Formats: sequence, C-alpha cells, structure tokens
Amino acid sequence: MALKTVQSKSVRSRIHRLRLSFSALHSDALLVTHPPNIRYLCGFTGSAAILLVEHSRATLFTDSRYTLQARQEVRDATTVIAPHGLLGAIGEALKGCRGNIRLGFAPAQLTVAEKDALQTAVGTRLRWLAAPGLIERLRAVKDAAELALMRRSARLISEVWTAAVRNVKPGISELAVAADIERGMKLQGASGPSFETIVASGARSAWPHARPTPKLLRKNELVVLDQGAILRDYCSDMTRIVFLGRSSSRVRSLYSAVLEAQEAAIAAIRPGVSAASVDAAVRKVFKRLGLERYFTHSTGHGLGLEIHEMPRLGRAEETLLEQGMVVTVEPGVYIERLGGIRIEDEVLVTSRGAEVLTSASREFLEL
Ligand code: ZN
Ligand code: ZN
Repeated sequence: MALKTVQSKSVRSRIHRLRLSFSALHSDALLVTHPPNIRYLCGFTGSAAILLVEHSRATLFTDSRYTLQARQEVRDATTVIAPHGLLGAIGEALKGCRGNIRLGFAPAQLTVAEKDALQTAVGTRLRWLAAPGLIERLRAVKDAAELALMRRSARLISEVWTAAVRNVKPGISELAVAADIERGMKLQGASGPSFETIVASGARSAWPHARPTPKLLRKNELVVLDQGAILRDYCSDMTRIVFLGRSSSRVRSLYSAVLEAQEAAIAAIRPGVSAASVDAAVRKVFKRLGLERYFTHSTGHGLGLEIHEMPRLGRAEETLLEQGMVVTVEPGVYIERLGGIRIEDEVLVTSRGAEVLTSASREFLEL
C-alpha cells in the first residue's frame, strides 16, 4: 500500500519534470511513442498507445482492446479510445489548437510513416522539433518508487541464480540451464527474463553475447551465466562464472584480475564523476596486468524499465553520474580457446558513493 502511494506521487512529478524540459525547447507539446517512456510517464503498459503531453494536459491515445486496462493503469493523463487509428485522433486533437503547433518528438522512436501521417492530418501548421533523449535523461535518475522495484528485481535475480547454480554440472545442456534459470524467475514472480539468458560453456564462453545451445556442459570448462529478470516492469542484470572441476592457476588469476577491475570501478563510482572515469578505472587494472586487449566492450550500462538505458559507462562518455542512477559494472576478459570471464553487478549511485544491489556471491565457484 505504501509503495502505491509513493508511486502515484512520483508519476505525477515525472510529467511535471518533463514539461519543464520541453518548455526550454519552446515546444507546445511532446509526442511520446516509445512504450517504456509511456509506462514511465503515465503508468500504461499496453503495447499500442501514444501519449501527447501538452502544457496543461496529457492525453493517452489507445484502442478499444485497452479500455479496461487503461482505466486501471493510467494516472495523470486522460485516456482517449481512438476507433479509427491513433494518429488520426491525435491529428484531430492538434487541429483544435490555434496558430502554429510546435511538436517535440524523438527521432529514433517515431517512424517516417507516422510523422507523414500526422503532418497530412494536421497540415502545414504543424512544425516538428527534434527532442532526442528528453525522457531517457529523466529516466536515468530513479525515484523512490523505482528504486524499491530495482532493489527487488536485483534481489530476485541473485536468489534465482544462487538456487539454479546448484544444478549446473557436466552432462546438462546450456539450454536446460537457461530454462531452469528462467523458470526460477517466473516462480519468484518475475514476468520473464529481461533479455535472452546467456549460458555459454567452454570455448563459447569467450563470446560475450553467446546464446545458449543444446551443447552439453563438460568437465574442465568455464561456464558464463548472464541473466536478468523483469519484476513489475523493472529489469535486473547479473553475470557470474563457474568452473566445472578444478581450474588452472591461469584461470584463477584471470578471475581475480576481473574481480579486481570490477572492484576498482565500483570504488570509482560517486556523484559528480564522469562515466568515462569509471570505465578508465577498469582499463587501468587490465593494463597493469597486461590484459587490456582481452577486454572488448565497455564497462557497463544503465538499466531500469529497459535493459540498456542511459548512462553508458564507456571510454568517451562524459555524462556525470548522479545520485539515483543505477548502472551495471561488468568488466570481462575473452580469450580464444580458453574462454571468457565476466563479473557483472548492478550498482546504485548513492549520495557518497556506490551500493551494490545484486547480492549473489562473487567467490570463484568450482563445481
Ligand atoms: Zn548481463
Ligand atoms: Zn549488462
């Protein structure tokens, strides 16, 4: 109950904060078509809807399949059930405005066909204003209601992994392990995985984004398990490595190098530092250990309603971290034939530093 109260208050302030940012662009209204942005601003989770945010009102346009769902979910916006297409209805609503209409839109999220249809419906009075990343920038900093869900989602994936890893042994296929993890998520109340669960063994563990296959796990292999769940629309993401049997000293030293790089990055996280400096902390450790060439991706990414969000923790990312951002820290080394080692946790930027949200043990497991 307490959670619900916090949530409706936060959702209201989200539309308010959005208005402040699009006023600065001198736009009259903003067209929101990306479903996670719609979910963020007014709570609606259906797949066919467009939200029009104006200075004095917000209107959600959807179709008759969603009448009941919209009634239950939508907050701080009026719902319009459009019988003959969403864009036609939005065109009619905009035509009622006087003078030229400056409409903000996200170029990466509105199709050319949608833009043309709206232009035809409204006519030459409609002026377009590109406003990329406006809502994504708000979403990068989580509010209290979101943080409560992020914590629950991170705890869920940690517990699911800790239970599932007990069944990882030679003779089981990568797909069977992935299925076990995804079943565990749903039994714990997740709606599903936040991305296709990665289980990659042996030489295939060196592929950072391998998909699970029918390959059976064998003794003396590294296994990468990268998984995340969606709990009440919020994503989690965590990677752990296990070794089947007794590992070589080379593998053990690589594992401690990756762990050291991850700890250096987590120690570098606090409000006001750049995303690039967190990435640099990882590279510094790998460089000292002569492993830099095996680290082939960036250090991490924001997450929330989507699995990849702002900010990205990469080499040239100038974004300054702020309290309330949640990012992954996932350094790895990928060595052909030997395999891959990645350790990934979710980290919340706090007022003074960082708090790790995922809680599964990071001790190197030899099974
Ligand atoms: Zn991951
Ligand atoms: Zn990740």
